[in-house]
Amino acid sequence: MTQNLPIETVEALVIGAGPAGLMAAEELGRAGVQVIIVDAMPSPARKFLMAGKSGLNLTKSEDMGVFLSQFSPCPPALKMALDAFGPTEVSAWAESLGQSVFIGSTGRVFPKTMKASPLLRAWLARLDGYGVGLRRQWRLIGFDQKTAVFETPDGERRIQAKATVLAMGGASWARLGSNGAWAESMLPAQIAPFKPANSALSFSWSPHMARHFGRAVKGVSLCCGPYRSRGEFVISKRGLEGGGIYSVSRGVRDGHKLYIDLLPDMPLDIVTSTLNRRKSKETVANFLRKSLRLTPEKIALVMEFSRPLPSDLAPVLKGLKIAAATLRPMDEAISTAGGLRFDGLSETLELAYMQGVFACGEMLDWEAPTGGYLLTACLATGKLAGQAASDVVRASQGE
Ligand SMILES: Cc1cc2nc3c(=O)[nH]c(=O)nc-3n(C[C@H](O)[C@H](O)[C@H](O)COP(=O)(O)OP(=O)(O)OC[C@H]3O[C@@H](n4cnc5c(N)ncnc54)[C@H](O)[C@@H]3O)c2cc1C
Repeated sequence: MTQNLPIETVEALVIGAGPAGLMAAEELGRAGVQVIIVDAMPSPARKFLMAGKSGLNLTKSEDMGVFLSQFSPCPPALKMALDAFGPTEVSAWAESLGQSVFIGSTGRVFPKTMKASPLLRAWLARLDGYGVGLRRQWRLIGFDQKTAVFETPDGERRIQAKATVLAMGGASWARLGSNGAWAESMLPAQIAPFKPANSALSFSWSPHMARHFGRAVKGVSLCCGPYRSRGEFVISKRGLEGGGIYSVSRGVRDGHKLYIDLLPDMPLDIVTSTLNRRKSKETVANFLRKSLRLTPEKIALVMEFSRPLPSDLAPVLKGLKIAAATLRPMDEAISTAGGLRFDGLSETLELAYMQGVFACGEMLDWEAPTGGYLLTACLATGKLAGQAASDVVRASQGE
């Protein structure tokens, strides 16, 4: 690092322009604090925009106790953030940016446009109105005492702020900026190792599966150790993916076996008695299709995972064991567990060993399923960190 460059000073610095960092900047800007937000990428919030491609699930409308139970761990600082800025507040905030929201049948909340881009445009305009400055292609490479050091297209630059908020994301989808490199280069002592969360599964399929690639398997329930989900997933060239799989992928990560109930609404004895009606000349596949209404995809999975077929097929249909399930590489995961440990943070997300530096979003060590929990926690912790950072700036002005 070059030591003798001039150091720019600002009141507050936010590093990382994903949803957590933008929310922290919004809080600081609203409080009238002079803020600069920097991001390593040429444009902000690339992962947020990607999240909007398949329908931006902002939050989940459900009882707060149930909502909080989805976070593990849920240490006091995270609970405090979510209590203050939970599903109701996230929806109201999106509406305040001109994005009407709707609640889907499972309680998931989406903007009516389903996309992230209109919301992001309105959000950036709001920040601009607060005078928040945005620096693109500024990558934090470390701290020199309390001065943040950046690699930029114009060479190394340094900023000293009264308060700093770190919001550099987790360690998946590196091409969108969230590469987790901050963990190795800057703060190793405080870091829980990253692990894939909400991950797809990998399989080397037999050739007969090829015609099912891209097809959805609906109306199933999945069970993997303590994790259960009811829903659907997609058979892809590389394995299984989609909401139903993501929710139980933590069980696979922890070494549990995955079972799929292909007929969750039919009790085992009814499945057994139906199977007993099969005439010997009728093929199993035909019978499963006609009498139990199994789709070609479900039948293909049965053939893939339970060959040779046992004489009693009912337990297989009620708990198809998915052998040799492994997670896809971490970079493909929707989110990551691990990151900055809460025992190294105060209740307002301030780093214990670096006063005036706060952290928020996916770079913190928490984990939750998909369903709007991820964005809600990023926004809530961003808000808490931004408010605490603005208190530090205000306090310094009173000195
Ligand atoms: C395909 C996909 C779909 C998703 N869908 C949903 C959904 O519908 N609902 C939901 O709740 N969640 C969803 N998520 C998860 C959600 O997008 C993330 O949890 C969220 O974006 C994390 O926000 P963040 O601000 O903490 O980090 P990020 O969004 O990862 O932002 C971190 C920012 O920090 C920058 N950065 C990193 N390192 C540095 C550095 N050294 N210097 C400067 N800048 C740096 C990055 O460039 C990036 O812009 C989805 C994720 C994916 C991949």
